[in-house]
Amino acid sequence: MNTQYDIIIIGTGAGGSTLAHALAPTGKKILILERGEHLVRSKDNWDPEKVFRREIYHTQERWLTKEGGEFRPGQAYLVGGNTKVFGAALLRLRKRDFEEIPYEDGLSPAWPITYEELEPHYQEAERLYFVHGERGEDPTEPPAQKLFPYPKLSQEPRMLEVFNQLKGLGLKPFHLPIGVQRFEDNIPGSPCIRCNTCDGFPCLVNAKGDAEQACLIHALRHPNVTLMTGIKVEKIETDASGKRATAVQATAEGETRRFEAPTIVISAGAINSAVILLESANAKHPNGLANSSGLVGRNYMCHNNSAMLAIDPFKKNPTIFQKTFGVNDFYFGQAGDPIGHISLIGKATEGILKAEKPWAPRFVLKFMAEHSMDWWFQTEDLPRKENGVELMSDGRIRLNWTPANRAPHERLIRHWKKILWKIGFRVMLTQPMPINAVAHQVGTAVMGKDPATSVLDTDNRTHDVENLYVVDGSFFPSASAVNPALTIAANALRVGDILKKRFASPLPNAGEADAQAVSRGG
Ligand SMILES: Cc1cc2nc3c(=O)[nH]c(=O)nc-3n(C[C@H](O)[C@H](O)[C@H](O)COP(=O)(O)OP(=O)(O)OC[C@H]3O[C@@H](n4cnc5c(N)ncnc54)[C@H](O)[C@@H]3O)c2cc1C
Ligand code: SF4
Repeated sequence: MNTQYDIIIIGTGAGGSTLAHALAPTGKKILILERGEHLVRSKDNWDPEKVFRREIYHTQERWLTKEGGEFRPGQAYLVGGNTKVFGAALLRLRKRDFEEIPYEDGLSPAWPITYEELEPHYQEAERLYFVHGERGEDPTEPPAQKLFPYPKLSQEPRMLEVFNQLKGLGLKPFHLPIGVQRFEDNIPGSPCIRCNTCDGFPCLVNAKGDAEQACLIHALRHPNVTLMTGIKVEKIETDASGKRATAVQATAEGETRRFEAPTIVISAGAINSAVILLESANAKHPNGLANSSGLVGRNYMCHNNSAMLAIDPFKKNPTIFQKTFGVNDFYFGQAGDPIGHISLIGKATEGILKAEKPWAPRFVLKFMAEHSMDWWFQTEDLPRKENGVELMSDGRIRLNWTPANRAPHERLIRHWKKILWKIGFRVMLTQPMPINAVAHQVGTAVMGKDPATSVLDTDNRTHDVENLYVVDGSFFPSASAVNPALTIAANALRVGDILKKRFASPLPNAGEADAQAVSRGG
C-alpha cells in the first residue's frame, strides 16, 4: 500500500470535495481520507421515522455540554459530509457580511478577504452545485458578474399565493437559491423529482447538489486521486522544527495507518478539524497543532436557528417541494430591530411530525401537515472565545456554546408571526434549535492577518505550520446569517487556485528558508 502522496485532504464535505475537484486536474497524487462510508441508497433515505426519529445517518457519538450534560450531535459522517443531508439552500454571504457589523450583543468582525475576491469563486461554486435562482429580487443580494447558472425553480400554487401576498404587504420575497439537478426546460432529463423528502434527508436518486455529486465523483475520475473511506484521522505529525507537517496518522478497523505528503489539508468540519489539531499537540505545539494563538477550537458559531410550523386552518397547503423562497428584508438591523434571514424549509408531512412527536394523535398531525407552511429563521451568532470545542482527558468532545444575538432572533420570529397573521395563519409553533443541531458549525480556526488573533492566514494556511491548510467552515471569522455551504465551497476553490500557483513555484521548505535567512543575514 502506497503511503506517499503529494496532497492529503481530510474529509469529503463542502470544503474537502470541492478542493479535491479543483486540484484533481493538476496530476498531483491526491489522497482523500474520509471517516464515513458511502451512503447506502435505500428506501430508508426518504423514511422520516428512520431519518428523524432514529437518526440513522447521525453519529452515535455522545458529546458533552459545558454544564456536563450529554447529547448526540446531528452530525453525519458520510462520503459527502453533511451536504448529503443538507437542504441545498446555497446563498452567497452579503457584501456587508465581510465588513465589521455592530450588533447589540457585540461586534461581528470583518473578514480579512473581500467579497470581490470570492465573487468569481461563488460563480463557479454555483455552477458546480447546480444552483437555481433569480438575480435582482433579494434586497441584500451582493453584486454578481453573471446570472445564476440555472434559472429559478418554479413555485407550487400555494407558495406562489403566499409569495404574492407578502409582496402585497411591501416585502421583497425572493426565489431561494437551491442546488438540485432539476431542469424545468427538460423534465424528462432531470434526475430530481421535486419530492418532499429533501431538506434533512439524503437524496435517494442522487439528484441533490451535494459535495459528492457536485465535486467528488468528478475528482475521482482522475487516476491521480484516491479516496479511502472508513478511515478516521487522529493526528498530524510535524518535523522536529514543528514548522512543517509531515504525515497523517489515521485508524481503520482498529489499525493505525500513516500517510505522508508535503501538503496536508484538513477539512473534517469545523468541530472535528479543531479536534484533529488539538489531538496533534506535540513538543513544539504543546497546546495543539497551529495553536500559538490559543484560538483552535474557540469562536465556535452555529447561527441562532429556529423552525416554525405556521397553520392557516382554513387553507390546505398541498405543496410538495416547499423550500422555494426566502425573505431578507430584516437581514441587517439596528439594535432593537428584528434581525436575520427567513426562508421556507422542507414541507412538514404527517410522517415527519409523527417522527418528531410520536405521542401526538394521528388526526392532529394529519391536520397540521395538511395546513402548515414551514419556516426557518436564522440570525447571526457572534464569535466568542468561550464558545468552542474542548477535548476532555478521555478524548470526548465538549462543546461550549451560549449563542449571542438571541434577542434580535426572537424579535424576528415575533415580527414574522404578525406578518403571517395578516395573511391568514392563526397557529404558529416555533422551536429553537438546541446545541445538538450543529449543522451550521463554523469558526473554530478563524482566518486573519495577525497570527496572534487568528489560526489561518488569508490563504487558509495555518500561521504556524507552513504546509498545513484548513478549508472547511472553521475559517469563518464571522458567521453571517445565511447558510454556510456555498461560501465554504467557493473558498475551497479560491484555496485551490492559491495551491495551484504555489505548486507552480513552490515555497522553500522550513529548513531551506532558515538556510536562506542565514545566508542573507551573513
Ligand atoms: C440537516 C442539515 C441541513 C443543512 N442545510 C443546509 C443548507 O440548506 N444550506 C447550506 O449552505 N448548508 C446547510 N447545511 C450545512 C452544510 O451541510 C455544512 O455547512 C457543510 O456540509 C459544511 O462543510 P464542511 O466541509 O465544513 O464539513 P462537512 O460537510 O461536515 O464535512 C466534513 C467531512 O469530514 C469527515 N471527517 C470528520 N472527522 C474526520 C476525521 N477525523 N477523519 C476523516 N474524516 C473526517 C466527515 O465524515 C465529513 O465527511 C445543513 C446541514 C445539515 C446537517
Ligand atoms: S427534491 Fe430532488 S434533490 Fe431533493 S431529495 Fe427529492 S429528488 Fe433529491
